[in-house]
Amino acid sequence: MSALRAQDLWRELQVLQPAPGRGPPTFMGARGEPLLSFASNDYLGLSAEPALRDAAIAEIQQSGVGAGAAPLLGGERPAHAALADALASWLGVEAVLLFGSGYLANLGVISALVGRGDRVYADRLNHASLVDGVRLSGARLHRYRHGDMTHLAQWLERGGRGQAWIITDGVFSMDGDIVPLPELATLARQYGAGIILDEAHAFGVLGLEGKGTVAHWNMKLHEVDVIMGTLGKAFGVYGAFVAGSQDLVDLLRNRARSFIYHTALPSALAVAAFAALDLLRYGDARRERLTQHRQHLRAQVPDAPWLASETPIQGLLLGDARRALAVSAQLRTAGLYCPAVRPPTVPADSARLRITLSAAHSHDDIELLAAALRGIL
Ligand code: PMP
Repeated sequence: MSALRAQDLWRELQVLQPAPGRGPPTFMGARGEPLLSFASNDYLGLSAEPALRDAAIAEIQQSGVGAGAAPLLGGERPAHAALADALASWLGVEAVLLFGSGYLANLGVISALVGRGDRVYADRLNHASLVDGVRLSGARLHRYRHGDMTHLAQWLERGGRGQAWIITDGVFSMDGDIVPLPELATLARQYGAGIILDEAHAFGVLGLEGKGTVAHWNMKLHEVDVIMGTLGKAFGVYGAFVAGSQDLVDLLRNRARSFIYHTALPSALAVAAFAALDLLRYGDARRERLTQHRQHLRAQVPDAPWLASETPIQGLLLGDARRALAVSAQLRTAGLYCPAVRPPTVPADSARLRITLSAAHSHDDIELLAAALRGIL
């Protein structure tokens, strides 16, 4: 533990108190000082929407807070089924299975589908939950260089025993870039590999009706075997789901241990996510606002070490953990909360500020951040 401190890799919880008045992204720090957050994945600003809140309160009044049991042992409510059906019809897939969180979904899906004798090809910057799912499966893991389809093709060409699976984020959580899905799907077809796509940061943000990376690339959902989405980011709630064929959902309901052995999502969250879905699906105005915020920020601070990204995840690559912490602390003095992200969350020497934009930010909020960054960098 002392080694972590010495390397500037020690982590502490940061408590942001809700500020009276405006709501997220405005908070207060420990001493009551105002803080404007650029740290949330609430991309569309739905977490504080009255429609979600009112739906959740009404459901709590009727059903209580916790679901009280696993989905297969009495924890399932009509609200869960209604949400799963609505998600399936939005995406145009046969079926959806709800999970307690994206982390649980990835562990459950990968360990249920991928066998010990299989081969997994994974982007080096995949989310930790995908990596852990592969570890749990016991499959052989080959990691290809980030976004490098030539490297992926070289691995696939070597072949091997068992079923091949390509596992990737749709939008990479720390860099914010988008997977080159058309090339990846072509390789999958050529080598008979299945695709598992994590749409945690893509649903609600990319594509027509916020349908994610597949829609962004004008592809069809059935070109991907398994799609995972979380309800904790653009949906503004909590929980997660897996979308695909009826056969897939039947198999996961019977085999995914993180589904079978977890307490069902509180039904109040299911109704909140149901309410969020319409706002997300028809949320073009919010998506447009996000694009404007991103373009404005980049135009106002053109010389900063931005990572290439067309999404609300905007990384400033600072390299050294100490420098990332120092810049984050300077921003905090200016009333702006932009956390430093350090190894092992990101590769060695690529510590950064992970700035996330939201439709809940105002134009003035973006101006404030831009002015502060110009003064510091
Ligand atoms: N996948 C990715 C790419 C993520 O960024 C995250 C959340 N950080 C998850 C999965 C886990 O989702 P959840 O927060 O719903 O557990």
